[in-house]
Amino acid sequence: MKYPAVQNVIAGAPHNSALHEVDVFNPSTGTVLSRVPMSGHNEVDLAVKAAQKAWPAWAATPIKERVQVFYKYKALLERDIAQLAALITEENGKIDSEARAEVLKAAELTEFACSLPQITAGEVLEVSRGVECRIERFPLGVVASIAPFNFPIMVPNWSMPNAIALGNCFILKPSELVPLSAIKIAELLREAGLPEGVFQVVHGGKEVVEAICDHTGISAVSFVGSTKTAKIVYRRATATLKRCLALGGAKNHLIVMPDADVEMTSGNVLASMSGCAGQRCMAASVMLAVSNVDSIIAQMVLKARAMVPGPDIGPVISAQSKERILHYIEEAVQHGAKILVDGRHAKVAGQENGYWLGPTILDHVTPDMRIAQEEVFGPVLVIIRAGNVDEALRVENASPYGNAASVFTESGSIARHVMEHASAGMVGVNVGVPVPREPFSFGGWNESRFGVGDITGRGSIEFWTQSKKMTTKWNREAGTNWMS
Ligand code: NAD
Repeated sequence: MKYPAVQNVIAGAPHNSALHEVDVFNPSTGTVLSRVPMSGHNEVDLAVKAAQKAWPAWAATPIKERVQVFYKYKALLERDIAQLAALITEENGKIDSEARAEVLKAAELTEFACSLPQITAGEVLEVSRGVECRIERFPLGVVASIAPFNFPIMVPNWSMPNAIALGNCFILKPSELVPLSAIKIAELLREAGLPEGVFQVVHGGKEVVEAICDHTGISAVSFVGSTKTAKIVYRRATATLKRCLALGGAKNHLIVMPDADVEMTSGNVLASMSGCAGQRCMAASVMLAVSNVDSIIAQMVLKARAMVPGPDIGPVISAQSKERILHYIEEAVQHGAKILVDGRHAKVAGQENGYWLGPTILDHVTPDMRIAQEEVFGPVLVIIRAGNVDEALRVENASPYGNAASVFTESGSIARHVMEHASAGMVGVNVGVPVPREPFSFGGWNESRFGVGDITGRGSIEFWTQSKKMTTKWNREAGTNWMS
């Protein structure tokens, strides 16, 4: 075991408890990296109590002072980028350039949190003669976030800097598959000067999540993960009258028109489906090939075949995940899909026990196949042929998910048509991964998001605060009216 067993971070210190632990694997080698405690109600309760103790002082700290911690934290993320990226690669598997991009994105999210004093300045208006209304934002109290395995640094930073800068105390439940990065986040926040109890980490799985949903001392929960779990969390957290925003899985469709640029489109679609081994909620999953786009497909196939597992594409997260993905591919082939690029036998010398898969592209998939409907979450692209853009949009619209959709075209009117009619919360034109960057908010539609609002950017301000509407009258000489 390369690292000692990870511990919870409660009240500013590592918290030891005699808990059942599970192994944390390095997906590139299949070896055990560390162990993670499977906490439950007691650990959540301890963290809530420590947060409740820290909260009054933190909430009373002016926002301009609170964000000073995040200026330092951002500098620390940049200082430690190589070490953080190496840790992400070890526990998640993604290649170094992807891991570095994840840390840089965390820095960008933190930069947004640093701008919150400017963005959240209140509103004031004389609404009647001598009567003034103002709106101020107040934090909620103790809040929690539950994270998935695919972005061990970025996803916790979607919510943490904003929620804390806005005056909340924050409990993170990282994925038990990637618990090491969360400990590093806690260390950097401590070094940046965050008071103890304002950020805490409780490790584990289902039991901790249920304890967070049920705990009446927690006011709001954000969740990112699969749709199946998002539904469980949304239902359970709102049952105890918490605010909840639960982001779920995805099945993203990329519509490729015959006028699309061959070089750019083939490169972008491939990068979208294979980046982070296809384990991104924004990954291309279905290419809707409109009319004849065979030259683009041929170019993409050439590029995909040239990708080398190891340097160009990392492993998937676990042996079970690899099995599941292989099953989808095999079933599609049995039902008549034609395999253009076959990544099923990918191997990396010296890392034979890693969970490797190469990019896999399947053509002539039909909308009724399971692989066309369900989230595969691996480096697999299916091509569905469509006669025109509306036929393609019908396939996209029929998906229960709604995270992202893109169109590749040189036509402004086709681009506009797709932007208007795709049933997805994030839509791109000639962009393989249409992630909105700060200050724009991240969030899907349909079964890719439960709750109101978005998780990052301006959208998150509403989620992590409550507004107070204050009406005052000081100049009595202004007279009386119906408000008097
Ligand atoms: P997951 O749903 O298995 O796990 C997410 C979190 O929920 C983890 O912390 C896990 O411990 C916990 N959990 C798992 N099962 C649970 C249960 N039955 N009850 C309570 N808690 C449970 O997701 P994952 O495999 O870690 O992550 C991949 C998924 O996340 C994909 O579906 C991907 O699309 C999605 N994702 C979505 C977004 C988005 O923005 N919409 C972003 C990243 C990942």
